[in-house]
Amino acid sequence: REWCVALPKVELHAHLNGSVRSSTLLELAKQLAEKGIIVFEDVKDVIMKNGRSLPECFKLFDLFHILTTDHDTVTRIAKEVVEDFAAENVVYLEIRTTPKNNEAKGMTKRSYMNAVIKGLKAAEAVDVILFDSNSRRNDTLTCTPTIELDGDTKKKRIYVRLLLSIDRRETTLAALDTVNLALEMKDQGVIGIDLSGNPVVGEWETYLPALQHAKELGIPITIHCGEVANRKEIQAVLDFCPQRLGHVCCLNDAEWKKLKSLMIPVEICLTSNVMTGGAPSLELHHFADLYNAKHPLSLCTDDCGLFSTSLSNEYFLVAATFGLSKPELFHLAQEAVQFIFADENVKKSLKEVFKDAGKRLT
Ligand code: 5GP
Repeated sequence: REWCVALPKVELHAHLNGSVRSSTLLELAKQLAEKGIIVFEDVKDVIMKNGRSLPECFKLFDLFHILTTDHDTVTRIAKEVVEDFAAENVVYLEIRTTPKNNEAKGMTKRSYMNAVIKGLKAAEAVDVILFDSNSRRNDTLTCTPTIELDGDTKKKRIYVRLLLSIDRRETTLAALDTVNLALEMKDQGVIGIDLSGNPVVGEWETYLPALQHAKELGIPITIHCGEVANRKEIQAVLDFCPQRLGHVCCLNDAEWKKLKSLMIPVEICLTSNVMTGGAPSLELHHFADLYNAKHPLSLCTDDCGLFSTSLSNEYFLVAATFGLSKPELFHLAQEAVQFIFADENVKKSLKEVFKDAGKRLT
């Protein structure tokens, strides 16, 4: 386990509101309970419960959003989430979140994203490299994922980029707004678009114009695919051919074949898939088949808060379940650099990070 923590890692599939610390959620719940908005005891049990079916998860997200959706709290959770990932040696993080309008709180999609960015910048415990305007700093990024402070203290260093999620509950116009916001904020660390939200809600045709627009603008796209066996949509998503896919659980033989021939990189979320029933067990998870087929893959957490996991734990689970050796785990982590949405400069720096770590870890 310690070795998996020490391993530099790339996280490509993490939802902001799914990655909030349980301690923070409990604290926020207490505050709302004091104001009489919720009943703390009810909420406490829900937050601390371990089993999460897919429908339960989406009910929980509605609760999380009540707890977290004001500007200051969004800033706080973004800060904590980036600090938590850096603490376990994630050296590159693409964090995704759904920009939210909330009139009652004076929140627009833009102001929500500004609050997220404020939080990332406020992370003092770690050195966050967020904006492209930092590219001069990128050049000077040493090949160690930490920087020296006074004395023996070291500060973890992490690249962070943002993906804007389209929620499946949204209309075509709202989805288009999100894509336009991604374009507007591309110099502020926003780098791509995600399609997520309850997979049994909504129609592919609703989001297609926005996804098509993103494609035309050259914005990289990742799509949640096959969380449920929706044959028509899985086919349409594969035909759309985004830069990456999340989950890919419920594919049939023809769809697996097509995915493999297209070589679309897959964001693998082991714990999440087993907990929500997308995969029958760790042992029977489709990771093994894709890994053996040398399909491009990257291990991810999805919602480390919601599913009580960490990226180090996901690597550990792969070793424990499928018998991967340390060099194989290292290679898996290193290969994920190929699938990041950030530019070649960042890839180059990350390759150096792995080269350096390889001397210590393999
Ligand atoms: P947020 O976008 O609010 O920061 O993060 C929570 C949101 O991410 C949820 O409301 C949901 O739309 C999306 N999400 C988180 N985990 C999953 C997942 O496992 N599957 C899907 N389809 N969406 C998810």
